[in-house]
Amino acid sequence: GISNILEPIQIGSMTLRNRVLMGSMHVGFEKLEDGVERLAAFYAERARGEVGLIVTGGAAVCQEGGMGDQYCNVYMDEHIEPLRVITAAVHEAEGKIALQLFHAGRYTNQDATGVESVAPSALQAPINRHKPREMNATDIERTIQSFADGAVRAKKAGFDAVEIMGSEGYLINQFLSPVTNKREDEWGGDFTRRARFGVEVSKRVRAAVGPDFPVIFRMSGLDLVPDSTTMEETLQFAVLIEQAGVSALNVGIGWHESKVPTIAMMVPRGAYVWVAQQVKEAVKIPVIASNRINDLRQAEAIIQEGRSDMVSMARPLLADSQIVRKSREGLFDEVNTCIACNQACLDHIFDGKIASCMVNPVVGREKEWALIPAEVSKKVAVVGAGPAGLEAARVLAERGHQVVIFEKQNQVGGQLNYARQVPGKEEFNETLRYYRAQLDKLGVEVRLETAATADSLSDEGFEEVVVATGVIPRRPEIPGVDLPHVVSYDRVFEKQAKVGRRVAIVGAGGIACDLSHLLVQDQVVSPQSAQYLLEYRILDAKAVHHLQQSGRKVYMLRRGKHVGTGLGKTTRWAVLANLKRHGVEMVTQIDYKEITAEGVIIRNQEEEQLVQADTVIIAAGATSNDSLYHALQGSLPVHLIGGAKEAGELDAKRAIYEGAAVGRAI
Ligand code: SF4
Repeated sequence: GISNILEPIQIGSMTLRNRVLMGSMHVGFEKLEDGVERLAAFYAERARGEVGLIVTGGAAVCQEGGMGDQYCNVYMDEHIEPLRVITAAVHEAEGKIALQLFHAGRYTNQDATGVESVAPSALQAPINRHKPREMNATDIERTIQSFADGAVRAKKAGFDAVEIMGSEGYLINQFLSPVTNKREDEWGGDFTRRARFGVEVSKRVRAAVGPDFPVIFRMSGLDLVPDSTTMEETLQFAVLIEQAGVSALNVGIGWHESKVPTIAMMVPRGAYVWVAQQVKEAVKIPVIASNRINDLRQAEAIIQEGRSDMVSMARPLLADSQIVRKSREGLFDEVNTCIACNQACLDHIFDGKIASCMVNPVVGREKEWALIPAEVSKKVAVVGAGPAGLEAARVLAERGHQVVIFEKQNQVGGQLNYARQVPGKEEFNETLRYYRAQLDKLGVEVRLETAATADSLSDEGFEEVVVATGVIPRRPEIPGVDLPHVVSYDRVFEKQAKVGRRVAIVGAGGIACDLSHLLVQDQVVSPQSAQYLLEYRILDAKAVHHLQQSGRKVYMLRRGKHVGTGLGKTTRWAVLANLKRHGVEMVTQIDYKEITAEGVIIRNQEEEQLVQADTVIIAAGATSNDSLYHALQGSLPVHLIGGAKEAGELDAKRAIYEGAAVGRAI
């Protein structure tokens, strides 16, 4: 069980019921019609799930520091009224909520705000198209005051606290870092002067809200940008901010322009807690740890070991609004765990869409997707236990239908079983565990190693059928494709094919990337053994590294120009960098001539070339396996979802979404 994480904690005058903070996330609902009501409902649901404190997405303290009208703003008195809708809903649900005071500085989207962006120095961010203007003394004074005014408005709107956004490479962080602050006046130069802006903002906010109102400061624990603030300066800054009167420090990791993964699935759980721990050792006020904490048992250990006073979870509260309550009740198996895929949250936001969640598509559709019990309980067959079928079965059963799920393999999961084998994608195991627990709890009958046919389904008296039979891998028409050393990707994932030391993969989409990763990290020693060898100094780091290399050479081949298509923006770069590090070669813009016993003969700008390989793996897409759907037409009401409906890239997001939708339609 867990107990330390559930202990109340005091932040300023505020007592929180437990030590889980929902970290700030921009979810984009503001741009929707009735956006405020949606946000209110979204946060209230998390409050009902017993999270200790919610921090909103950033609210701009002035126009030039924001992201435009479609984001949250707190720079005018007329912004107060709509914010009250949010605080009222959260309080009604017995929760507590803080408003994040935000200024993006050189990260601002000038096209959206309609005004010129500003920053400590006129240096363009690598992730922005516009160069900011250097702030003058008047700008600086006005901006400090705008944080204080924003805090007062937040208080008027009923927020229980404010959080000053000082991390992730936003304005306050830009003042602190020598990379972005080249000033030589009293706001730049040495460390004290670079720290001054953040200190002044904290003091001014404190003075404006009075001595007791909780003020949290989100500081950057680690910038992960070359030549930026040192750890020593970071800890000194923490002390200065404490002295300026803030009530707690929330420690963030990495800037938006950082090239080091901070929240991707490949980042081990809790990898950055040590940073918060260092800050905690430097100050007396409560310190909050964040990044890749997605399980309350893990959070419990962090608190118990005294590494931080609270933990921040953001995406895990998208994946399961009830994570805190379920964990308190000991129902860990029933938690829908965030797998850090970013596919429906961050990737959506970067694409200008609203955030949802791959494993919980209800996010952003709370109103229209409220779970309503079925009017008539029907006997429903779900054929195929991949992500689409699993979600359909879960929702149907939850609504009161009598559900049987058929799977021709000897386990449920479908393509989730492929993904979870890939190094760094082990979190998919959690999704499977969640579905197994849910099917079990809801009494769904699971029939493994059973191929349902149109006749058997009719004979058994099913009233409706959901076909989620997935895909059939495509076999491209390349001469030699029938040779014995040519195998399809599914057989490799299912461990039914032997793979040699030199591999050519025909295809370079998401599946090929996963497969390459799996093949090059098919290690001689497991990560655990490697750690053991290192810890006990049995071998040195170089020798261990050598052991961990499989010595396998992998080529990814593609007709088109791009590798890793179908991977989200926030992860594609990291996946490709990882593959390159492992020596995977990506050969693009080629034509296939022939597969021979020696490998694949390709044509590269008129030149013929042999890519030597003892195994050729075909990962060139798939076609829908929809024959059962057509066979059932006219005899039973039948629904088609997931890969069986539309093949294409391995797309668990769409699969789960369609499962959730059909689950509500019967
Ligand atoms: Fe987590 Fe992926 Fe859901 Fe985002 S989309 S909250 S990363 S599971």
